[in-house]
Amino acid sequence: MNQADYIWMNGELVRWEDAKVHVLTHALHYGSAVFEGVRAYDTKRGTAVFRHREHLDRLHRSAELYYMELPYTLEKLREATHEVIRANKLRSCYIRPIAFRGYGEMGLFPLGAPVDVVIAVWPWGAYLGEEGQRHGIRCKVASWRRMSTDSFIPEAKASGQYLNSILAKVESAKAGYDEAIMLDQHGNVSEGSGENIFMVRDGRIYAPPAHASILDGITARSIRQIADDLGFQVTERHITRGELYQADELFLTGTAAEVVPVRELDDHKLGEPGEITRALQSRFFEAIKGEREEYLEWLDVVEMDAPAGDARITQAARS
Ligand code: PMP
Repeated sequence: MNQADYIWMNGELVRWEDAKVHVLTHALHYGSAVFEGVRAYDTKRGTAVFRHREHLDRLHRSAELYYMELPYTLEKLREATHEVIRANKLRSCYIRPIAFRGYGEMGLFPLGAPVDVVIAVWPWGAYLGEEGQRHGIRCKVASWRRMSTDSFIPEAKASGQYLNSILAKVESAKAGYDEAIMLDQHGNVSEGSGENIFMVRDGRIYAPPAHASILDGITARSIRQIADDLGFQVTERHITRGELYQADELFLTGTAAEVVPVRELDDHKLGEPGEITRALQSRFFEAIKGEREEYLEWLDVVEMDAPAGDARITQAARS
């Protein structure tokens, strides 16, 4: 992976290679962590974190759902994110905040373990490749079902839950595909291993409903807004696997992947990215770059000149 210089760890900036945990960290054993995937873009207004507030709110919600109290306010985490971007002098980056049950307790009752918070940033290009963004990717419906709502909380972005996504992702990669599409426990279309899915048929856009075991994606929310602004109707309803094969257009959305057309699914050809996917994709790219007035409120601009109270880069970290 691409490295940066510093990581924000429990209130301090430490050197990238020193951001370590004990092997008996609770989250390492039981997946007891919640996290976010966020991006900052090089925009017309400077480096800006895309929909920062929404990501922090979801982090807070994920933590609450697993009875975890974040030891910092969301405003403090927002400032810390700005701080670590500044310290690393990055104009654009991927941002990974994670809150995890730390060292001090073993066993499944986690509430006695301390909660540690880390924010890492690093340069990370298109998750499913630039070629994929331009010409579409090949997907496979996974044999693994997306976690059921009576076993887990799909709307929480919790680390342990991602073992489910990893099974699907590995299966699709080993079979030679770019990404996995998962069905929910009832066999309805749910989402990609790390992206939401949209289907276009007869000029209308469809997306699986919130109760199809999906994560409420922030990119998907942005796409729904953009679709609305472009005059398209987005209908949330159950989608069957067979419908996907007959789609005029399919695309995936996610912070890491951004907006990615699907050109083939289970060896059914969908073809080059369609008109609606293209229109949404290009408006989305304009929005993240700060090129459209109406979406500027989605950008949290990072002040690159450090304010007075900034960056306690520890003495050890400097040396
Ligand atoms: N579903 C899953 C399972 C994900 O991991 C992600 C990435 N966070 C998404 C959907 C897309 O969410 P977002 O657009 O907020 O990144």
